[in-house]
Amino acid sequence: MEAFYTIQGEGAHQGKAAYFIRLGGCDVGCHWCDVKESWEMDQHPRLSVKAIAKEAAQFPGRLAVITGGEPLMHDLTDLCEALHQSGFKVHIETSGAHPLSGDLDWITFSPKKFKAPLPEIYSRADELKIVVYNKSDFRWAEQFADKVRPACKLFLQPEWSVSPKMLPQIIDYVKANPQWQISLQVHKFMQIP
Ligand code: SF4
Repeated sequence: MEAFYTIQGEGAHQGKAAYFIRLGGCDVGCHWCDVKESWEMDQHPRLSVKAIAKEAAQFPGRLAVITGGEPLMHDLTDLCEALHQSGFKVHIETSGAHPLSGDLDWITFSPKKFKAPLPEIYSRADELKIVVYNKSDFRWAEQFADKVRPACKLFLQPEWSVSPKMLPQIIDYVKANPQWQISLQVHKFMQIP
């Protein structure tokens, strides 16, 4: 769908320069999704993995983030290989609703209520990122915290449109449950993509 060099604004790698590769296609259907234009896979051009990796390599950073849409609707084996050949670390942001593919260096698992994740991701996720839209999401988040491996980092992130309401609740929750950390979409504060 698009690719751009920017700053990773969320999670454990927040603040790092990264080349984002946004793949078209998503069948998860979050009502608050801020990239609904990504949903229809066929509305986006098909590019070769070589062309994507070549474009990425024009920038100095060597961190690539594959996102979407739901990127695991594609087999990522060849894309990961091409990016690795150009010296990239390859990160992914996924709902976990489709099978994992590709040699991934960091997996951000962000489950959604609208389509259940596949259990294979629990033992592979490096960070669990729960987008908090309402109060019931705290209880929902804990279900996943119980399933991921102990080394997996735990993040609560306010959904942007309800952030003024939910952030104070997240702050209180993290103070009471310090195994969690807060993730903010700092790229939005910086007004960059
Ligand atoms: S999984 Fe991501 S891209 Fe898909 S609907 Fe939800 S927020 Fe949007």
